Amino acid sequence: MEHSKTFGFSGAGIWGRCSGSVLLAVDEPELPDTPDSLEGDAAHWVGEQMLKKFKEQTPDVYQYGESLIGQSDPKGTIITEDMFDAAWVYVEDITKVVGDDVDNLHVELRVHSGHIDPEAWGTSDAFYYDASTNTLHVWDFKYGHSSVLAEDNFQLVGYAFSFCEMNQLIQSNPRLSLNIVQPRCFDGNGAVRNWVTSIDQVRAHINIMKGSVAQYRGNNSRFVTGDHCRHCQSSYRCAAITKVATMCIDISMEGMVSNPTNESLAYQKQLIDTSIERLKSKQQSIDIQLTERIKRGEPVQGYRMDTTYSNRNWTCDADTAFMIGDVMKVDLRTKIKPITPTQAMAAFKKKGIDESVILNYSAKSKTGLKLTADDGSEARRIFSKGKL
Ligand code: SF4
Repeated sequence: MEHSKTFGFSGAGIWGRCSGSVLLAVDEPELPDTPDSLEGDAAHWVGEQMLKKFKEQTPDVYQYGESLIGQSDPKGTIITEDMFDAAWVYVEDITKVVGDDVDNLHVELRVHSGHIDPEAWGTSDAFYYDASTNTLHVWDFKYGHSSVLAEDNFQLVGYAFSFCEMNQLIQSNPRLSLNIVQPRCFDGNGAVRNWVTSIDQVRAHINIMKGSVAQYRGNNSRFVTGDHCRHCQSSYRCAAITKVATMCIDISMEGMVSNPTNESLAYQKQLIDTSIERLKSKQQSIDIQLTERIKRGEPVQGYRMDTTYSNRNWTCDADTAFMIGDVMKVDLRTKIKPITPTQAMAAFKKKGIDESVILNYSAKSKTGLKLTADDGSEARRIFSKGKL
């Protein structure tokens, strides 16, 4: 999928908040594919193929997608059931919204916004413009586990604004239905995260992006650290995030509050959680760089690459393994047990059977209590769904 190296919308969540990141990104060497990125590409490819069939009005898109399991994508990655399952969640949501109006569905469409910058462009997974309700639907499919929300998502806003700009829709202030489909992230926000807004309501986001562009174009780039640093590929050579990491060490050497109030403890925990997040992002970025350099044969003092191994697996078939055990009078057979309830629910769902029956025969047991940050968004979410 193509994206601009300076103001690509896939990175808008970073450069929209830190114009300094563009300075580093322009000469950032391309990282080689990783197993995770290849898996993500393959899942996207499955989704794209299914949507192409949907546009051709092929009767059973689900069955077609299922037939791709075991085949290879263009990069040679074998399509797994997990990839198909995730891609189907994305495709199914789109098919329900679009219905028969397939001509107005656009898959992997490149869009650009001259209003933001001549270099502001990107390729969105899917657009659907419903002229009867003046609503633009945008979908972005994420195969990763790290939580991404639709609300205030600069990437989705960039795609939506560009589509409206290119199709002269801005003046009519279309309603926007912006979606992140993330089936493998279990943060409690569901697989399809939806934000309903409008072009007028996202003007503030566009202005923030334009502000960042102006800083970069005016040679006045600013490095601003925040949650967005987690996804910044240049954090290994960013002085600002290095300073944050150094400050963490200094702060840990200062005096302790002797009898902290609840507010003080909560504040300290928030500070430490945030510091750990920043450090983790820097650590991951440095790990990637060091790994690449050592793989290229460059000496890195104090580090080397060690081979890692999976759990030991049988290299013979099951009957041979049982026979070895029988000869030695050791029973190597496991007791047959059903698949997990979650897997059973997925299997029911796939066959169109109501999976809720499994809920009556399964339960989650409490494993303990976890301290969770509470910014009031959960209460707002429950109220907005009328659950109270
Ligand atoms: S690590 Fe953070 S502060 Fe540094 S360039 Fe990246 S986004 Fe900006």
